[in-house]
Amino acid sequence: MMTDFSEVKQTARTMEESYWIEKEDETEDLSYTELISFPQWLHQHRSETLKYLKLNHNNLNMLPGLIGSFVNLTYLDISNNSITYLTDEFVKLNQLKVLIAKNNGLTLDSLPKQFGLVKSLEVVNFGGNNFTEFPPQILELSSLKCLHLGANKIVKIPSQIYQLSLLRHLYVGGNELIEVPAELGHLSCLESLVLCDNAIQTLPTTLSHLRNLRSLSLHNNQLQTLPPAVASLDLIELSLRNNPLVVRFVRDLPPEMPSLLELAGRIVKTNNIQYTAADLPRNLIDYLKSAQRCVNPRCKGVYFSSHVEHVKFVDFCGKYRLPLLQYLCSVTCTIKKPSVAYSNSSSSSESETDDLDEIARKKLKKVLLG
Ligand SMILES: [Zn+2]
Repeated sequence: MMTDFSEVKQTARTMEESYWIEKEDETEDLSYTELISFPQWLHQHRSETLKYLKLNHNNLNMLPGLIGSFVNLTYLDISNNSITYLTDEFVKLNQLKVLIAKNNGLTLDSLPKQFGLVKSLEVVNFGGNNFTEFPPQILELSSLKCLHLGANKIVKIPSQIYQLSLLRHLYVGGNELIEVPAELGHLSCLESLVLCDNAIQTLPTTLSHLRNLRSLSLHNNQLQTLPPAVASLDLIELSLRNNPLVVRFVRDLPPEMPSLLELAGRIVKTNNIQYTAADLPRNLIDYLKSAQRCVNPRCKGVYFSSHVEHVKFVDFCGKYRLPLLQYLCSVTCTIKKPSVAYSNSSSSSESETDDLDEIARKKLKKVLLG
């Protein structure tokens, strides 16, 4: 058992470090030098040649406007200061690829409105600041590969996150998230996703689209079940400790009765009744499009909003049984024998194993539970 998710953190850190180059004329490391203000001499003598600058672990409380004259800067580390404000001149740094600003006092008001103009940025680290919202300007940084927003107070990831289509590492651990948007599934380059230490209750099924994802960190959340999509991912690491994962499925509420609309929709779909845009109002056409296939492989049925929850316990690594939440079209439709209305945790009755077991066994090499 590992106590933290060190490999993921390492991946993000290695990415930041890979940009740092020591070259006499182009590099200045002023970290740990007790600076209380931006050094004037640096501005006077180096502003046009400097590419790599470290100002981390000092006592700076702002970056002055003259930072805008460092036009060739590609790497800037201002982490571990007391910075509460990034000047508007910052957006002139149009060669900047790496901004490390973790452990400061940044809020949404600290960033220039035009921060999104720094399109060259590939790595942004705003971990350990005071953001209560996801900074919307970040969504304009279309070259971004690594985004670190851990240890803030962010309550929501915007659905426009899909705009960051080159993102490989997303770290939003240690915030106040309750859910994540389905659009996260559009980030097809994503290799590591850190969602640990939040209050997340459900995950979108679209996670299954993340074909490059290798690390998924979910520990310290409020997950009771996982979408089956998790089993189909090609993960090397999955951390799940400290989640109230159900160990036994108990149904306490009767399923909701399908509406007449739903029953009619099911008949149209299962009998493959043809229709055109001229036959039906737009809202009904949209409704019919929203049909979901029942997970029972023997059932050809569909459902719309009325479904029966079915938790399938799948063995991972032959060691852990993870609850995957699937939906069935009705109470009488069961994956097992028709006489058994609901699935429960007993494994002996699972005569028909579907693909999930097999996928889970093959793919996941490491599962971290508590
Ligand atoms: Zn069914």
